[in-house]
Amino acid sequence: MDQLKTGKFIAQQRKKQNLTQMQLAEKLNVTDRAVSKWETGKSMPDSSIMLELCNVLKISVTDLLNGEMLKRENQNKEIESTFIQMVKVKEQNDKLLLILEVVIGVLSVLVLLVPIIIGSLLTNIEDWQRIVICFSGFIPCVLGICFALKIEQVAGYYHCERCGHKYVPTFKQVNLAMHMGRTRYLKCPNCGKKSWQKKVISKE
Ligand SMILES: [Zn+2]
Repeated sequence: MDQLKTGKFIAQQRKKQNLTQMQLAEKLNVTDRAVSKWETGKSMPDSSIMLELCNVLKISVTDLLNGEMLKRENQNKEIESTFIQMVKVKEQNDKLLLILEVVIGVLSVLVLLVPIIIGSLLTNIEDWQRIVICFSGFIPCVLGICFALKIEQVAGYYHCERCGHKYVPTFKQVNLAMHMGRTRYLKCPNCGKKSWQKKVISKE
């Protein structure tokens, strides 16, 4: 730790915040002589006011002790935390999507079955009318199932237990694969082997 360097850094950052030594001293409840001593490297700020000083100067304690802004490291940390945030948001959304998938699945079955039941229960209608009613749920049901499959494809990942690879398959692969619930029999793009692969939300 270089006291002189830290001192110069404090002065530089204070000026950047448009503060005089007096104004900074007032904010920290110390004398302007104390501030002057820090800036000339004659003394270090007491650890009890170091945090507050860093707050006022908008720097980190590490920056203060190093006597310079560790830009690269800070940026990396920022990028990293933004990235972690994004991953969390995706996982949250994927969970909601998979719930939505179940709802769409149930509705798709209902939209198919209800008209069939109604069509067969009605007595005083023509045969062609009965057929139209019975089949009216067919297209909405197919659309619903397609939509649910699309969710199944993009939400989360499939996990190959043979090599540990986690990936998003193509829509076609998902469509053609045998499945039990959300576990599908898929070919892993990493190791090339076919196996029953579970759906997982997180890539970690
Ligand atoms: Zn694999």
